[in-house]
Amino acid sequence: MTKNTKRRPPVLVYAAAALLLVAAGVVFILNKWETHIELIGPKHYHVQTGESFEDPGVIAETRGTLLPFLHRKLNYTTEGTVDGNANGTYTVRYVIDNEKDPVAAERIVTVSDTVAPVITLTEIEDHYTVPNHIYEEEGYTAVDSMDGDLTDLVQTKELNGYVYYSVTDSSGNTGIAIRKIFYDDRTPPGLVLEGGGEVTVWLGSDFEDSYTAVDDADGDVTSSVQVTGSVDTSTAGDYELSYTSTDAHGNTVTVYRTVHVKEKPVNNDTGVEGPKVIYLTFDDGPYRYTETLLDILDKYNVKATFFTTSAYPAYAYCMRLEAERGHTVCVHTRTHDYSVIYSSTDNYWADFNYQNNVIYEQTGKYATMFRFPGGSSNTVSRNYCSGVMTALARQSAEKGLIYFDWNVSSGDAGATTSTEVVYQNVISGIRGNSAYGKPSVVLQHDVKDYSVAAVERIILWGLENGYTFRALTPESYTAHHGIAN
Ligand SMILES: [Zn+2]
Repeated sequence: MTKNTKRRPPVLVYAAAALLLVAAGVVFILNKWETHIELIGPKHYHVQTGESFEDPGVIAETRGTLLPFLHRKLNYTTEGTVDGNANGTYTVRYVIDNEKDPVAAERIVTVSDTVAPVITLTEIEDHYTVPNHIYEEEGYTAVDSMDGDLTDLVQTKELNGYVYYSVTDSSGNTGIAIRKIFYDDRTPPGLVLEGGGEVTVWLGSDFEDSYTAVDDADGDVTSSVQVTGSVDTSTAGDYELSYTSTDAHGNTVTVYRTVHVKEKPVNNDTGVEGPKVIYLTFDDGPYRYTETLLDILDKYNVKATFFTTSAYPAYAYCMRLEAERGHTVCVHTRTHDYSVIYSSTDNYWADFNYQNNVIYEQTGKYATMFRFPGGSSNTVSRNYCSGVMTALARQSAEKGLIYFDWNVSSGDAGATTSTEVVYQNVISGIRGNSAYGKPSVVLQHDVKDYSVAAVERIILWGLENGYTFRALTPESYTAHHGIAN
């Protein structure tokens, strides 16, 4: 017997190898080759209008069903085009033209404008908004990739310290921008002293200080005004006051006032006529300003003369007040209508008598003094009756009546509506008469509020300059004009 010494693989090894081979064969036989197509990127694809479609394509290959690691790229064709300049929905088809197993995939491509307009805000250096004020626009522009400049379509809305801007393009895309408003206040309050920087207070009367402070940001800040200095109205002198107002942002303002405390001047009629005598006369009333005027005259014990009409019969009672308070009530005519009163002497006296009866009813006395409407020098009467003024002047003397003209015109009958101009006209007229040695007969109208408003200053100017105010009497200077008819 020979001994077999050669080593042999165990039977089990052969069996396993054989089994493996069989298994591999089975797998290989069972494996199928399949054609695959797979979109690269999304199925639904968007292209912004105006841009071109960059097709990412597909993965096209053949693959083993049981051996997927075995694959091979395949050629494919693309069907369908996308026009990036024409909005719409396009279908792109990818086809593998494989005889045995043709497959295809589809992609939906939408071309549309989805880009919103862009709003650009302008910012002006050092621009600010005062608190509680509306924002003042610094500017903006809006540009859209499709529509171009849309600045004019931008809508703005201010709310709680911000401005919101929005604009929508023709495709419905809305662009927005938000601006935070920068608030600041660099202006101090406006401090207004009622009565001005210089006021006069009569000795012994009350000084009622009055002022307002209004800030552009904070509104009324009157209550925060600090006043330094004080006024003693029981001691004559000049008192300096200062007023300071500071707003919430620290802007401050100071204004000053001088208060002159002095003895109240009072008219003291000496009964003597001369170049320092002023006759204040008021025509055409009474009217709604007459009582105010009477109070002003009373303050300074000034007596005046009223040439009255019945133009405003509701105020006829003022004639009684005028008489009661020491003024002289005279006739001007009832109607003041030139076409009536100057059409004949009879018409004039009928109109005159009517008014004198009203005066009698109110005061208990007839007037003997009067003033012709338009003055004795008027040239309007000749339009209605030539020579009527000459006749009326003669007849008035026969009736024992005295007419008065004036030598100071305030200009309040039409030349001006300014209280300041009335005041200046009157004082310059008085100065001129004084220089010529004549008393002044001043013409004003108590139917004009701006003229009545000048009276207190006229009186104070007169008293401070040594004049005396008197009411006209039958013996007074008549200031006659020349008759011109
Ligand atoms: Zn008149």
